[in-house]
Amino acid sequence: MKMHDVTGTIFEGMAVYKDKPEKQPKMNPQTTGEVTETQLEMNVHTGTHIDAPRHMMMDGETFESISLDKLVGPCKVLDLTAAENGISKADLKRFDIQQDDFILLKTKNSFEENFNFDFVYLAEDGAAYLSELGIRGVGTDALGIERSQEGHPTHKALFAGGIIIIEGLRLKEVEQGDYFMVAAPLKLTGTDASPARVLLFDELHF
Ligand SMILES: [Zn+2]
Repeated sequence: MKMHDVTGTIFEGMAVYKDKPEKQPKMNPQTTGEVTETQLEMNVHTGTHIDAPRHMMMDGETFESISLDKLVGPCKVLDLTAAENGISKADLKRFDIQQDDFILLKTKNSFEENFNFDFVYLAEDGAAYLSELGIRGVGTDALGIERSQEGHPTHKALFAGGIIIIEGLRLKEVEQGDYFMVAAPLKLTGTDASPARVLLFDELHF
């Protein structure tokens, strides 16, 4: 059984949203000479992570509302490496996307290590289309599912449809196709997101 780790590495100096220094993780190793313990300070939207509705809606639910049942199961990687800027409804209609699917958008973002201000994102009409279809979740290889959209319509359309959003995936090594996904976030409560380890398996059933 082949396993693909599609998680980004967390380190000081990693790519963070809009290159904002305050979003960098900070690791403070303390050592007595015998025992070492590192204090980690980081934003919950660091690297590969899952957003909760609270992120974009003041009255939205926090992270514990996202059931692990929805994060473990079949998923489809879609090759959108030819897409520039916003992924539209027309771009998505070329694929066989069904109700309850979990789709991962593989774009040219996966081939860049640094933060690109012109990253490929999910356009508002693309998000509305996925919401209409009633998919289970959508993952992106950008650190944001939308880019400079006033009012955050993409996040809102997805959250309104109860669609889970994973951001910051690394899909360079993964071909388009069907996989079994295990997206395992930290078991945080009361937060607007959580970092996650995301693994894809070639076998569709266990
Ligand atoms: Zn986020």
